[in-house]
Amino acid sequence: MSQNKVKVGVLGATGTVGQRFIQLLQGHPWFNLTALCSSSRTAGKPYSEACNWIIGENMPEHLRDTILLSCEPGPECDIVFSALPAESATEIEMAFANAGYIVCSNARSYRYEMDVPLLIPEVNPEHMQLVDVQRRGRDWKGFITTNPNCSTTHLVSALHPLHEKFGIKKVFVSTMQAISGAGYPGVSSMDILDNVVPYISGEEEKMEEKEPQKLLGKFNGSGIDYADILVSAHCNRVPVLDGHLETVSIEFDSKPSEADILAAWREYNPLPQQLNLPNAPEPAVIYMDAPNRPQPRLDRMAGSVPGMATTVGRLRPDPIFDYKFVILGHNTIRGAAGGSLLNAELLLAQGYLGEEAAALADSRIVE
Ligand code: NAP
Repeated sequence: MSQNKVKVGVLGATGTVGQRFIQLLQGHPWFNLTALCSSSRTAGKPYSEACNWIIGENMPEHLRDTILLSCEPGPECDIVFSALPAESATEIEMAFANAGYIVCSNARSYRYEMDVPLLIPEVNPEHMQLVDVQRRGRDWKGFITTNPNCSTTHLVSALHPLHEKFGIKKVFVSTMQAISGAGYPGVSSMDILDNVVPYISGEEEKMEEKEPQKLLGKFNGSGIDYADILVSAHCNRVPVLDGHLETVSIEFDSKPSEADILAAWREYNPLPQQLNLPNAPEPAVIYMDAPNRPQPRLDRMAGSVPGMATTVGRLRPDPIFDYKFVILGHNTIRGAAGGSLLNAELLLAQGYLGEEAAALADSRIVE
C-alpha cells in the first residue's frame, strides 16, 4: 500500500524536533518519509554520521545510510515538516511554499501572519480555511501552516473546552519547561543542573500576546478575530528532560462549578477525535484525580497516543481568580512534531492534499 501514501520530507531532520518527526513517521498509515534535509554543515553526509540521536529508541535502521539533502526545493515529496530554527525557517519555508510544497512548520516565523493558520486541530480546525485566503493573496504554488509554541499548545488545549462553555477572561500561568524545549545541545549543563533559569527568550510574549488569542479567535471569512483574553505568563526552564508543567489560574466570564469544569473536560470530543485521525489522542484532555499529579516523568506519555494528550490535575478554587489547576504536556511530541503531524493529518482528511490523498483517510489504510 505504501505507493499510495503521501510522500513527506523533514527539514531540520538532525535536530531534537526533526528526530521526533522521524520517530513518529515510522509506519504512519498515510505518510511515507522520503527526504531528510539539514544545514550545509551536515548535508551530503549519511544520517547516522550527521545526527546525534538523542531521543528514546534507536535511530531507524533503514535511515542510517540516507544521505542528507540541503534545505532547498527539489525533494520528491508533497509535504515538508519544518523543524528549522526561525532564523533560517523564514527564507527556507517560503522557498518551499513558493515551489508548491505544503509546509507544516514548528518555527515561529509565519505563526502570526494574518493569512497563515496557527493550528491545534482540536481547538481551531476551521482556521484551516486561512489556507484559501493565503492561496488567493500570495503568489505561492503551495502553502504554509504552523503549530504554536510548545507551552501554548498545552495551555490552550486545556483551556479550549472551558472557553467554549464558560468564556475565559483572564489567565495567569507559570511554566516549568523541560530542557529539550531549547533544542540540542540547548541549555548548558552548568546552567541547568541544580538550578532553575527564570527566563526563556521570547516565550512570555508568545504566551501573553500572540498565540492564545489567535488560537481561540474566530475565523471571519478573511482572517481571525482574536479572542479577548488577558494572559500573564512566567516562563522558567527546569532540569527536566521532556514535558512542560504549567500552573494556571483563570477567571471566567461566567463562573462555573468545579463539577461543570470537570464535565467540560470529560465530555470534550473535538474534530480530530471524531475523525479518528491516526495521531489524535482519545481523550484529548486527561484529568488525573491524584493530588500530586500530573508529573513530567510519570505522565508525559499518558494517553492512547503517547505524548499527544494534555494532562490536567489539581483543580481547586483560587482566592484571587476563580480556579487554579496544573497542566502537563510533552513538548517535542504534542508541543512540536506530533502537533505538526496532526495538522497534516487534518489537512489530508479535509481534502487539502487532493482527492486521492483524502481517500486514504476514508479507507483507513494501515500498513
Ligand atoms: P535544534 O535541535 O537546534 O535543530 C535544528 C535543526 O535545523 C537541525 O537539523 C539543523 O541542522 C537545522 N538547521 C539549523 N540551521 C539551519 C540552516 N541555516 N539551514 C538549514 N537547516 C538548518 O532545534 P529544535 O529544538 O529541533 O527546534 C526546531 C524548531 O522547532 C525551532 O523553530 C523551535 O523553536 C521549534 N520548536 C521546538 C520545540 C522543542 O520542544 N524543542 C517545541 C516547539 C517548537 P544541522 O544538524 O545540519 O545543524
